[in-house]
Amino acid sequence: MTNEPLLYFDNNATTAVDERVLAAMLPFFCETYGNASSRHPQGERAAAAVTLARRQVAALVSASSPDHVIFTSGGTEADCAGIFAAWNARADGADTILLSAVEHPAVIAPAESTGARVELLPVDANGRLNIEAAERRIAAGGVALVSVMFANNETGVITPMADLARLGCAVRAQGGSLQVDAVQAIGKVPVDMQLLGADFLSLSAHKFHGPKGVGAWIVDGARHPNPSSFMLGGSQEAARRGGTSNVPGIVGLGEAARLARENVSDASLSEAVAARRDRFEAGLLERFPKTKILGAASPRLPNTANLCFADIDGETLLMALAASGLCASMGAACSETKRTASHVLLAYGLTSDEASRCLRFSFCRSTTDKEIDRGLELLATLIPALATIT
Ligand code: PLP
Repeated sequence: MTNEPLLYFDNNATTAVDERVLAAMLPFFCETYGNASSRHPQGERAAAAVTLARRQVAALVSASSPDHVIFTSGGTEADCAGIFAAWNARADGADTILLSAVEHPAVIAPAESTGARVELLPVDANGRLNIEAAERRIAAGGVALVSVMFANNETGVITPMADLARLGCAVRAQGGSLQVDAVQAIGKVPVDMQLLGADFLSLSAHKFHGPKGVGAWIVDGARHPNPSSFMLGGSQEAARRGGTSNVPGIVGLGEAARLARENVSDASLSEAVAARRDRFEAGLLERFPKTKILGAASPRLPNTANLCFADIDGETLLMALAASGLCASMGAACSETKRTASHVLLAYGLTSDEASRCLRFSFCRSTTDKEIDRGLELLATLIPALATIT
């Protein structure tokens, strides 16, 4: 390990809490610590802060009303909530849940647990869905829910909002629902519930400089005025999600949403992140021309680079990078402990061997050119050294 500061290139796993977010949260631990459901000044102050956060989150995703924002313990809970609510609201005869082949486990696992027939929509080598084929499948009938992520956590590949909206129209015309997991997109690109026409949308604060363990499930309140809840208990969140409100977390999510809304509305900020990501990719390709960039021909998040290296084992490189102070990832952080080939990369048509040579580097708006160049230098030293050993 060097004495240089860590190079944190793993922002799709989680981000640093913005100092303004932390400052907004702090009073809600020891000063305004009331239960937001309590009828006294402490509780009312906490409830007012929750109300403000609900407005901030609704504004970030252009939800039609703050009442359509339901606070959760994060993206996983929001994804589960959408799957179960859509399944419980299914029309007679609907027995199928359609997922893109690259969904997060937070979508796949609850979908499988319902007992529905789960069908996967394939993607091409650049991670793109065939929207016409999906529409044809939906029109054939029996689909209770389509769940397609906005941006992929491993490659950053985006399904454009217009395409998601087409899926939404197709499935709603049949009485089914569209769920959009926007966990990785929020704070990086604009996400608009009105343009999407989604029934359910998931987001998670820790992916956009908010705290861990808090997120939101946004519902189309016109279609789902009383979505069924699987968090049974008290009548918090208008009886749609039981459990004492995590007031500091919700306040942090609200402030992170306010900041994210400012950031995504300034295109120059995401262009700057994309320029650094492109500089990193170009620098690697120059030194190691056989490296492949996953999803290069698709619209991608500005911050994500997933690179398939020639002749080098990804895990060996990841460990060597970590030992030298560079934090990257093999893919989804939640699958880091389970060494099977990524289902996302296999869906892109990679072999298991190719998938084992891929690493994800994910940047954020505070990543600097100097850090990118230090990362490149490190890779330029480590890759040839490791290639001779492996
Ligand atoms: N969906 C996607 C696309 C994700 O990347 C993640 C987390 O990595 C989740 C859902 C789960 O979110 P959380 O960590 O808040 O449970």
